[in-house]
Amino acid sequence: MKDPVCGMDISAVKFRSIYKGKEYIFCSESCKRKFEGDYNKYAR
Ligand SMILES: [Zn+2]
Repeated sequence: MKDPVCGMDISAVKFRSIYKGKEYIFCSESCKRKFEGDYNKYAR
């Protein structure tokens, strides 16, 4: 899976967020916060 914010490939899930029933994973807390601050920009 890929981090939707920075595009990095993720091998171990450490940070995750659920949006509209779909799970998104992130490389860092900072990417997760960016995602949660602007769903429309990053969620696909
Ligand atoms: Zn990231």
